[in-house]
Amino acid sequence: MTRHFGKELRHTFQAHSQRTAIHYCGEAITYARLEELTLRCAGWLQAKGVQPGDRVVLFTPNKLPFLIAQLGAMFAGAVPLPLNPRFTREEMRYYLNDSGARVVIAGAEQRAMIEALVPELTTRPETFSDELALAPPTAEFKESNVQAEEACLILYSSGTTGWPKGVVHTHANVSSSLHGLAECWRMTNDDIVINSLPLFHIHGLAFATHTTLLVGGCVLIEDTFDAQRILQTIGQGTIFMAVPPIYYKLLEEPGFREAAKNWSNVRLFTCGSAPIRTEVLPELQAILGKPIINRYGMTESYVISSLPLDGPWPDGSVGLPLAGVEVLIKRTDGSLAEVGEVGAVVIRGPNIFNQYWQKPEATRAALVDGWFDTGDLGQLDERGFLTLVGRKHDLIITSGYNVYPQVVERVLGECPGVGECAVLGLPDSERGERVAAAIVRTSQEVNEQVLRNWCNDRLVHYQQPKSLIFIDALPKNALGKVLRRELRERFPNT
Ligand code: ATP
Ligand code: MG
Repeated sequence: MTRHFGKELRHTFQAHSQRTAIHYCGEAITYARLEELTLRCAGWLQAKGVQPGDRVVLFTPNKLPFLIAQLGAMFAGAVPLPLNPRFTREEMRYYLNDSGARVVIAGAEQRAMIEALVPELTTRPETFSDELALAPPTAEFKESNVQAEEACLILYSSGTTGWPKGVVHTHANVSSSLHGLAECWRMTNDDIVINSLPLFHIHGLAFATHTTLLVGGCVLIEDTFDAQRILQTIGQGTIFMAVPPIYYKLLEEPGFREAAKNWSNVRLFTCGSAPIRTEVLPELQAILGKPIINRYGMTESYVISSLPLDGPWPDGSVGLPLAGVEVLIKRTDGSLAEVGEVGAVVIRGPNIFNQYWQKPEATRAALVDGWFDTGDLGQLDERGFLTLVGRKHDLIITSGYNVYPQVVERVLGECPGVGECAVLGLPDSERGERVAAAIVRTSQEVNEQVLRNWCNDRLVHYQQPKSLIFIDALPKNALGKVLRRELRERFPNT
């Protein structure tokens, strides 16, 4: 049987009707109520002329209407398309033109911006208030006939390496991805997932929310991430899903150690979307009394691998492929790398996306016989555990030597007084590229000389940063990913 995310979700709604699906701002929403809200929204969109396959953009900071409209649009047979409510007018021009959006469901501020922008767009989306999505006029809902192999969701990638790409997922690949994750993390309808992540990104929307709903569990959605509030909330859950900056923030919170004593209910702390600094893990795990389950995923493939729930785990690994996912490490000439050898991480499985939205060339280049080159570099150990060393795009080639930024970052990060850091290659007339590092200090005692000595003792000469700059904070995107391309522009021409 081919799996179909929309149909399975409808089935869960029925099977668990009296259980709580969502906790939001002190309100408990049962599956029966969620079904009523989403189908009502679906019927309203259909009455507004939304057709199967039409892109419905979600552009609101308000998470409940966002989620209702996302599921409603999907049940109507349309293709929901979440976007960051903080995008600027120029960014929205790109997304709306690129996606050919038919409808935009927007928060009050966002709506004003879109309405002013619409006359300048190649398509003319109709804009509706998110309040209307939550309480629309009643209209008849007609069951859509969208097939498992048809589009269910478009997610734009984070744009870490260039312009974000619209990634099209079908009902079949979303379903198999979510089942793979639920199985690996042994998720059941007894789970309560604490989710303070943005819903416009795959992590907060798909992994934290859709997976939980698919298994009939409860997702506690926090409107925004507030470190003080989350300390009071985490203990109500059984799973806490987060990104590295959230864990860093918790470590800085004065009440963290005390609050964590009341979190015995939480069976799973997970982390992903960006590399976590391994040097913070021992302290973090000692406070939580549990391991942090690192997992690796991307917009194009959902979750690829995760640490298994039972150890032992190799240091710094992102774990084993989920069921049904194959991971290979390839050399530049296409041959298979050996155990322990760094190469391109290529993957295959039912979880992989269908296409880049209206980019047939990019799709053909990305998907070769079902294999997808992730753009990440990594290695497998003899047990099949994957460790990432960075992105191909960020690999530094200096005087013919390969330098993996994460290796250098790990060493710098272990130096007392160094907070976060990012290592990158800068153009260099002699070496081709030279290794540079941007460093956020936690102590002023760290200076260039201290770091040079530190690296000298720990890194082979070509890996040692030749340029160092101290900055107040690393430039990051909404998910806390370091934007190396911005750093590149900020580095002095030394
Ligand atoms: P774009 O493709 O637009 O440049 P992006 O790749 O950052 O942006 P996402 O799909 O959100 O967009 O992120 C996927 C990437 O995030 C992966 O390719 C990988 O580099 C990184 N990543 C995800 N999880 C982890 C993890 N646990 N450890 C290290 N890196 C991770
Ligand atoms: Mg990417």
